[in-house]
Order: sequence, then structure tokens, then C-alpha cells
Amino acid sequence: LQSKLPGVSTTIFSVMSKIAAEYNAINLSQGFPDYPCDPKLVELVNKAMKDGFNQYAPMPGNIFLKETVAEKVEKLYHVKYNADTEITVTAGGTQAIFTALTAIINPGDEVIIFEPAYDSYAPTVKLLGGLVKTYELAPPQYAIDWDMVKKLFTANTRMIILNSPQNPTGSILSKEDMKSLIKLINGTDILILSDEVYEHLIYDDHQHQSVMLFPELRERSFIVASFGKLLHATGWKLGYCLAPDKLTKEFRKVHQFNVFSVNSPMQQAIADYIKEPGHYNGIATFFQEKRDYFRRLMAESRFDLLPCNGSYFQCAGYSKISDEKDVDFSMRLIKDFGVATIPVSAFYQKATDHKIIRFCFAKENSTLALAAEKLKNV
Ligand code: PMP
Ligand code: GLN
Repeated sequence: LQSKLPGVSTTIFSVMSKIAAEYNAINLSQGFPDYPCDPKLVELVNKAMKDGFNQYAPMPGNIFLKETVAEKVEKLYHVKYNADTEITVTAGGTQAIFTALTAIINPGDEVIIFEPAYDSYAPTVKLLGGLVKTYELAPPQYAIDWDMVKKLFTANTRMIILNSPQNPTGSILSKEDMKSLIKLINGTDILILSDEVYEHLIYDDHQHQSVMLFPELRERSFIVASFGKLLHATGWKLGYCLAPDKLTKEFRKVHQFNVFSVNSPMQQAIADYIKEPGHYNGIATFFQEKRDYFRRLMAESRFDLLPCNGSYFQCAGYSKISDEKDVDFSMRLIKDFGVATIPVSAFYQKATDHKIIRFCFAKENSTLALAAEKLKNV
């Protein structure tokens, strides 16, 4: 059989969570909370089922949910998206990314990504016959030199994928970054896929610079959001895509044959839940406290903590501890120390080993304390 994705194996998140379970290790690898979501959400799903939301939702999403999202976005960013024509409810951020790329990328089109990058981007582009052009971010700041990004432009550049706050580095884009990007794409027809699933997880008084805040970017952007991150319910696999009318039309042409529509009772429940204004208040503080707690604990270890301005990931260098490859080192951490992490080399396409691993701190403080206690001995 001729593989459509030679060189791609099972995603690192499945691999590490499986090994973590086999060794009964504390799982700080795959990004998901180890504490329950709000029980009120679960009640609202039950209510939605009892109220009869058990058949197909409308193809682009539950109308009430799309309107609620439009209100939220307007309140938060002072930007209007039309619920009818510019918002589509998806099966998580992953499907939104896949569908947006599928709607746009033709064989030979080039897509610029910033590595280390979330692992779904590159394989999806390749599956569509697109070419991935990589800008490598340098640790520890993972900053972008936009003049160097420009060097990647060719006549075939079709899209740039942004991700702020970024997985796995926890870095964020600043207003200056956005202004540089605007200059760069001015006069081109390059589109943007802006993965903003961690929009609320931003710390130390930084402001999330959504592409929608910049009209020159907004008009050419698909914005991806995930309720999994917002509601501490990653297993629900619900999210949405915001894009101007023209782009949404293309998005929905694919969406209707990709999934048609997504889970109906949960859409209704989420709409009921997030219609309360301020449902996202406190989420940044909640995670910032976890970040700070974990960093304080880890200060007693030999790991070098990298900056973390957003997301629920903390990266750490271990070159003072070992010169093993990050994959080998993270395996040893599981087997000998009982803590599972993600080797950051998994977020690059070509072999790249900066001796950095990623911890997820969306965990009970007791889990973080237990893990740090073990990591102190490394
Ligand atoms: N983008 C990034 C950067 C992510 O970290 C994740 C999830 N972990 C996703 C997209 C996918 O989100 P979802 O789980 O809603 O599919
Ligand atoms: N986004 C999560 C992470 O980076 C996991 C997503 C997944 O398992 N596909 O860990």
C-alpha cells in the first residue's frame, strides 16, 4: 500500500499517554486537565438531551450557540462576526484546522508554519499536496524575525499558520508582530489560519492579539477556537471557526462533507453555559497560578525553565542533566522517575533536538507537587 503520509506515525500525544498509563506514571504529557469540568455543564447536556436535542444540528452549527459566540467575540474584541455567515461550529480545533486547510490548499501551494508547531499542521498540508515552508523559532524566546519570514515567500505562498499563545512553547505574538505581519502580506493574496485555541490562557497582563483585531488580517483569516480548552472539557471535541463570509462559504463546502454537523446536545449545553457574560473571567488567573506553582516547585530541580507567557504548557531544558536525545530522555523520565512529558522534537518535521521537554500544567496542584517531587531527583 502506498502511504499518503509516509514518515508519519501515531501522534506523540497518543504515544506518550499510552506509555504513561502502562508505567503508571504521572501524565504531564498530553494537554488535558486531570480535574473535572464544571458539573453544571454536565447537567446542561442532560437537560439538552431531555429537551430533545438529539437529532442533527444545523450543518454550520446550533443557531443559539453561533449567536452566543458572536456576542462573546464582540464583547471581548469589539469585532462583529455574523452568526449566519461567518461562524461555523466544528468538532474541536483540529477539525477546524483540517477543514480550513482542505478548503484552501491545492497541490503545490506553500504554507508557512513556525516550528516547533502543533503536530497536525504539517501532515494536513502534505495530505493536500501542499508544501510546508518552515520558519524555525529559536529557544528560549521563540521570537519571530519577520524579515526572515519574508524570505520564505514565493509566488506559491498560499497561507501562513499562526498559533498564539503557542503550543508547545508558551510564547505569544505581540502587537508589533502583528504590525510586521500586516506589512509583510500587504499586496499579496496570502491567507492566514490563526490557531487561537489558547486565547484565554495568557498571563502577566499580556493581551491576546487576535488577528481579528487587525482589519487587514481579519479579512483574510480563518480563526480557530476550542471549547475543550475554555471549558476544561477536551473530550467534548467542540470548537468553532470564524472567517469572513467569502472564506466561510468555502469552509462550509468542505465541512458539510467532512462531518456535516457536530454533537447537538453539547452545542446546546455550551450555548446555555457561555451565554452568562464573563464565563471566561478567572481562567487566565486560574492557569497563571498553576504555572507559577509549578515553576516554583521546579525551581528546586536541575531543569532550566523556559519563559511561558501563555497556553498550559511549560517547556524546560535538561542539557545540564543529560545529553540524551529528548525522546530517550523522556522515556527514561517515565520509566525511572514516573513522570510523562512530551519531547519537543515531536513538534518539528526534521530531526531537531534542543534538549527541551514540555510539561502540561493543567493539573491538580497535588499532581503537580507529586510530579515535581519526583523531578527533583532527576
Ligand atoms: N491547536 C492547538 C495548538 C492545540 O494545542 C490543540 C489541542 N490540543 C488543538 C489545536 C486542537 O483542539 P481540539 O482539542 O479542540 O481539537
Ligand atoms: N493539544 C494537546 C497537546 O498538545 C493534545 C491534543 C491531542 O491529543 N491531539 O497535548
